[in-house]
Amino acid sequence: MTNLRHVKPAGEAIFKDRYTTKVRELLVPWEDGGNAVFAIAGAPFSKSSISHSGASFAPSAIRSALQSYTTFSGDTGVDFTESIIDFGDIYMDPTDVIGNQQRLYEGLYDIYQTDAAKNWMVLGGDHAISHSSIKAFSEKYSSVGVIQFDAHHDLRNVEDGGPTNGTPFRRLIEDGVLSGENLIQIGIRDFTNAKGYDDYAKEQGVIVYTMQDLFRESILVILEREMKKLADRVDVIYLSVDMDVLDQAFAPGCPAIGPGGMDSRELLAGVHLAAQHAKVKAMDIVEIDPTIDIRNMTSRVAANVMMQFMLGKKLGV
Ligand code: CA
Repeated sequence: MTNLRHVKPAGEAIFKDRYTTKVRELLVPWEDGGNAVFAIAGAPFSKSSISHSGASFAPSAIRSALQSYTTFSGDTGVDFTESIIDFGDIYMDPTDVIGNQQRLYEGLYDIYQTDAAKNWMVLGGDHAISHSSIKAFSEKYSSVGVIQFDAHHDLRNVEDGGPTNGTPFRRLIEDGVLSGENLIQIGIRDFTNAKGYDDYAKEQGVIVYTMQDLFRESILVILEREMKKLADRVDVIYLSVDMDVLDQAFAPGCPAIGPGGMDSRELLAGVHLAAQHAKVKAMDIVEIDPTIDIRNMTSRVAANVMMQFMLGKKLGV
């Protein structure tokens, strides 16, 4: 074989530092069985979005962004060495918007049923994927609670626009998967939702914290209080992270950007704390459109949200 001088595989780092491991290097494809701590799956679906969205490209962009981070948390001394099982992406038909939501449900149902990992991370996609994912996840438990980080209620009626990314939590309530009082919404923003949906949230007993609430009280204090109460009512807790909960300055890649949102440190600290609770076993991250992002800023926040979730699980009891 001819020896080619100075040639290396395309796309790899310039050199490999012997002491440095990047988080992306921990991803391994799923093979039957498995007893992992963490698993991920991609839900590349955004044709249900009300506004123009390329969120279907986000699972790949977030996986790439994991290359931006080392496995070591200097703050806690934790160094991740365990593999993260990567189930790949759910197949999405190019034209079948309604059928794809059923595919997401069935695909994620099969993945959750493998019991291949203790903790799950689903990479969206737009927020419609959370309906399929939470429905599939909840089938393993008798009751589920959800902590939703979001600028929007996502409680829109289905009659006017169908099952869009504005409807997932209403559909979960109407399907009997989630009861209103077991849904905690954090980061709801002014002039971003209609009064009718605020009324619906109140009718259903949804627990809502607006951005003004977060200025008055720390997200950590709010989460500690609400999670304690929620954990008494449900078997398992699912985190749903819509990146548009962040201020537009921190998440330029979200289709629905706006001012007056969280900063990234607040979101990361919230996910870190929430994940420490033993009943938190799954999280999705949605609403990133890599085609409009700036320097992958939003995907990088998403990858860091994953790391904080993992760190929280590692440190939790
Ligand atoms: Ca949302």
